[in-house]
Amino acid sequence: MTQRYITNSPDETIQLGSRLATSLSNSVVAFFGDLGAGKTTFVTGMCQGIGYSGETSSPTFAIVHEYMGGRLPLYHFDMYRVESVDDLYSCGFYDYLDNGILAIEWSENIIDALPDNAIRVHISYGESDNQRIVEITGRNIT
Ligand code: ADP
Ligand code: MG
Repeated sequence: MTQRYITNSPDETIQLGSRLATSLSNSVVAFFGDLGAGKTTFVTGMCQGIGYSGETSSPTFAIVHEYMGGRLPLYHFDMYRVESVDDLYSCGFYDYLDNGILAIEWSENIIDALPDNAIRVHISYGESDNQRIVEITGRNIT
């Protein structure tokens, strides 16, 4: 089942991310959406939801940022530059699985490596500058 939300500000997207992460255990959250859609903003909200209070930013060059100190670790991936399974091994993707929450931007690039039970979050532009459509599959927000 897919739940569909409309947010009208970055804050509302942060709230949604926070609600998704609040009671989440180890899992893979795969993001889909264009540059500027709001993937990193949503991940910032997820960090709030697990009680991580530090900074968040797109790990484009590092591929992964580790956010420790919340209820469980959150590993923030940016797969924009990942092209092969070798890249996935070298950035430690397989070591992180089942050891916390993996939030993965540009999941389009690693679609075959995503576990079947990955939660999918599609974000697209809405009708106005600050509007986004967020579709979440694989986990219900209550
Ligand atoms: P991505 O990681 O998908 O490239 P970011 O989260 O880094 O996107 O950036 C989203 C941009 O869109 C930010 O500049 C943010 O302020 C802006 N924005 C405007 N409206 C929204 C909204 N409803 N939700 C999320 N971001 C929004
Ligand atoms: Mg980003």
